[in-house]
Amino acid sequence: MPTVRLFDDTPYETSFAGTVVSAQPGAREGTAQIVLDRTLFFPEEGGQTPDRGTLHGFPVIDVQIKDNVITHTVQAPSDAFVPGAEVRGEIDWSHRFSNMQNHSGEHILSGLLHSLYGYDNVGFRLSDNTVTLDTSGQLTDEQLRDLERRANEVVYRNVPIHCEYPSPEVLKTLDYRSKKPIDGPVRIVTIEGVDVCACCAPHVRRTGEIGLIRILDVLHTKTNMRLTIVCGMRALEETQKEQAQLMAVSHLANAPRLSCSDGVQHLLDEILSLKEQLKTDDIRYVDTRLREIDLLESGRSARSLWVFEAPMNVLAQRNFMNQLCERGYRFAGVFTGSDEEGWHYLIGSRADDARIPGDLLRKEFGAKGGGKPAMVQGTVHAAQAAILKMLP
Ligand SMILES: [Zn+2]
Repeated sequence: MPTVRLFDDTPYETSFAGTVVSAQPGAREGTAQIVLDRTLFFPEEGGQTPDRGTLHGFPVIDVQIKDNVITHTVQAPSDAFVPGAEVRGEIDWSHRFSNMQNHSGEHILSGLLHSLYGYDNVGFRLSDNTVTLDTSGQLTDEQLRDLERRANEVVYRNVPIHCEYPSPEVLKTLDYRSKKPIDGPVRIVTIEGVDVCACCAPHVRRTGEIGLIRILDVLHTKTNMRLTIVCGMRALEETQKEQAQLMAVSHLANAPRLSCSDGVQHLLDEILSLKEQLKTDDIRYVDTRLREIDLLESGRSARSLWVFEAPMNVLAQRNFMNQLCERGYRFAGVFTGSDEEGWHYLIGSRADDARIPGDLLRKEFGAKGGGKPAMVQGTVHAAQAAILKMLP
């Protein structure tokens, strides 16, 4: 026997009584699969997640439909339900109403996409976190903003929404959107003057109840487009989260809320100019150090030279190492960083193979890095004294 779908005619009811048809232990321990003669619980169907709530006082964790029979998975022992007995069910109204707002909002958008651009809805997903709709064509950002504005105008017009099962004769005369051919009676959802669509889900009575409709994101595939949308209370919650982010950025960038990207750009420009300044300073510093080294090392025979420095611009570090290599050392290495934070090293050699000290650092201290005979680079976490003791 098909389950009577109470939500078809009375989507605003929140509690009901039904007779237990069957009660089986569920696949997961401590759960039961309950079939009633009728239910207010909308099952997972048409891309929409199921209703939540309680049945006979026990939490309903899933609702599925197969061959027109609706099965509730309940967190309860199956013997808590006796076939033939009447039980009461309560649906989670805020969850249901949110789904109704989002689903009706989606119909408005899909209806407008169809009437304005001839696009079909080729996919729909209404979960507790996101609502996405896939369309058979693409729109520009400007067209999307226009679509969003038109959808909200339908909300303000507060148009009635009708859900009904027309007779086969009437159905034949209707021009309606449908994702797939349907066997048996077809439920038609009509938003007056906006959209006619085959749909199995509960909807709000008038478009005014949907509240704000927002298009949050668009993802273009080759020929299609996936819109992430949000309606009603969810749209308000999303807007409040965005507002909090906007205010935070506005304070950080010290710029007005609606032009805070200018403030962020200003900060980025400042960072870039400071980085340039640091690079110039580092290059100057390397010149000074080279003069010191030349004074210190003059007259000594060429051997390897290892210098340890505070963090510096990587181009300056490279220039430092190259300049040392020019002076004929067997190996010249520049380590920047600290014993605590670790060292970033560049080791060069003109006459030998820089991979020799590089391999030593890897074997001895687990350094990460590599390179070619002329130069190796990497990072090592060890103390300067320990590194010096081991290097050739
Ligand atoms: Zn629908």
